Amino acid sequence: MTTSIRRMILVLGDQLNVDASAFLDFDPQQDAVWMAEVDEESTHVVSAKQRITVFLSAMRHFAASLREIGWQVFYSEIDAVDNQGSLAGELEKALALHQPKKLIMTAPGEWRVLQSLRAVAAKHQVVLEVRDDIHFFSTVRDFGVHAAKRKQIRLEYFYRELRLKTGLLMDGNKPIGGKWNFDADNRGSFGKNGPGELPSPTRFAPDQITKEIIRLVQQRFAHHPGSVDSFGWPVTRSQALMALKDFVANRLPYFGLYQDAMWEGDVWLYHSHLSSSLNLKLLNPREVCDAAAKAYEDGHAPLEAVEGFVRQVLGWREYVRGIYWTHMPNYLELNSTKAHAALPHFYWTGQTDMSCLRDAIVQTLNHGYAHHIQRLMVTGLYALLLGVEPKQVHTWYLGVYVDAVEWVELPNTLGMSQFADGGLMASKPYVASGKYIDRMSNHCKGCKFNPAESTGDKACPFTTLYWDYLHTHTDTLAKNPRMLMQLKNLNRLSDENKLLIAEQASKHRASVLKLPRTEAINPKSFS
Ligand SMILES: Cc1cc2nc3c(=O)[nH]c(=O)nc-3n(C[C@H](O)[C@H](O)[C@H](O)COP(=O)(O)OP(=O)(O)OC[C@H]3O[C@@H](n4cnc5c(N)ncnc54)[C@H](O)[C@@H]3O)c2cc1C
Ligand code: SF4
Repeated sequence: MTTSIRRMILVLGDQLNVDASAFLDFDPQQDAVWMAEVDEESTHVVSAKQRITVFLSAMRHFAASLREIGWQVFYSEIDAVDNQGSLAGELEKALALHQPKKLIMTAPGEWRVLQSLRAVAAKHQVVLEVRDDIHFFSTVRDFGVHAAKRKQIRLEYFYRELRLKTGLLMDGNKPIGGKWNFDADNRGSFGKNGPGELPSPTRFAPDQITKEIIRLVQQRFAHHPGSVDSFGWPVTRSQALMALKDFVANRLPYFGLYQDAMWEGDVWLYHSHLSSSLNLKLLNPREVCDAAAKAYEDGHAPLEAVEGFVRQVLGWREYVRGIYWTHMPNYLELNSTKAHAALPHFYWTGQTDMSCLRDAIVQTLNHGYAHHIQRLMVTGLYALLLGVEPKQVHTWYLGVYVDAVEWVELPNTLGMSQFADGGLMASKPYVASGKYIDRMSNHCKGCKFNPAESTGDKACPFTTLYWDYLHTHTDTLAKNPRMLMQLKNLNRLSDENKLLIAEQASKHRASVLKLPRTEAINPKSFS
């Protein structure tokens, strides 16, 4: 039977906020909400089980909460027999069935999805109104105006502009504490005794809805990577608020100092674990930053911790979104260093002798989580030094993390981590040898390699590949003043040593890359 409604509000899996712009003039008497679970969103890049579970469970909880307040929700379950498998297919079905006069949505987080929904609306000659996403502090237009004034865009200046605009951690027009940025105080390691007793992370036992999704994911996506046994992510707004409260009370005071530190087997450390809740929009970034700023005002957390945290949410999160939307779709194709190697298969299993990589990958597959430095300076750094094609690195990051949505994942991967945009986003490639990992963690202690050695049986692959990267890209890097110190150190190596390093690097590449190409791997081979 067909029904006819006034407006159908399209809600995607990462738009789970009832204060969204798409709902501003929602009239439950005449309007309805449309949500669809579809296979394509878990398979267009192979998604890990944790990621699929967090999205589907949060969507079902959100739909239930809307029904509770009396709103009509047209909801497609992924295992319904007539599910078309794609957002476009499901939307076409809903248009035929409900014949809405107009479609409204908040701007989506992925360029591909926007194009596909626009195409359906155009085909069926129904108006699709796409509204600004007011979840963010800034609009893409704000970022565009900021960028247009500059030869080069940098996080620091956009961040300052947003501090001034919001008044966060400001004393009039001066930054509280006299400095905009306490980054230099955010690089502590745990020392040889390790982190000691850490506060427990906030995890949530699966309720009936989540248990049902876990069962579904284990059957339907059985061959997708990772495990969902330890699932404990917030999937409702009230859980996300509890997670925020716990972070501010128990971990924020140490967040700044240990932001970059790693420790074998310790997954959660002093990080917030709020990215999935923020990106699904269970939390608003304003309430998150306000809670952190209040902890400083109350004397509960030091300024360097609070500023360090606010810089991530108010600064980086808004900055990468601006980069994504002002540079898509071309951004996806960038490959400034012409890297073409395949992503090693062990990224999907964690089976490698390199302790740091094994630890970061295994926890990623088990929990859908790794903190920033693990992503940037372990898994990302190795892919960069090995010369992996950026698009393959991108599809891995987009598939494996519970917080992965393309607007935030792609600039972080392609720009910050792989330098594939040639310096649009970051002022220099984030490259370092194994000694950096040794300084920031205890991984090297239990590793068969030695971070101080670049050649020979015990040579650390990171160290070998680091020198080889500097050597191979010297001409380009020499144009970047921020790389001069690293190149100066390269020049201290003898020609003979450089040759041995090049041989060792090519032997290492051959040993890793003779494994099957990731893109040719069937998801069935993940288990
Ligand atoms: C290669 C690579 C891929 C990444 N992919 C994603 C992704 O798909 N989704 C995602 O949300 N973040 C991504 N990040 C950024 C960052 O690593 C994660 O936001 C962070 O690790 C999430 O853990 P947390 O919530 O404990 O963060 P915390 O360390 O507690 O930081 C607080 C919050 O700040 C924000 N934040 C921190 N760093 C960044 C950043 N660089 N860009 C944008 N926001 C940031 C997040 O919302 C995070 O929750 C990526 C980073 C790299 C290097
Ligand atoms: S020695 Fe090298 S490969 Fe091993 S843990 Fe240290 S940095 Fe990683």
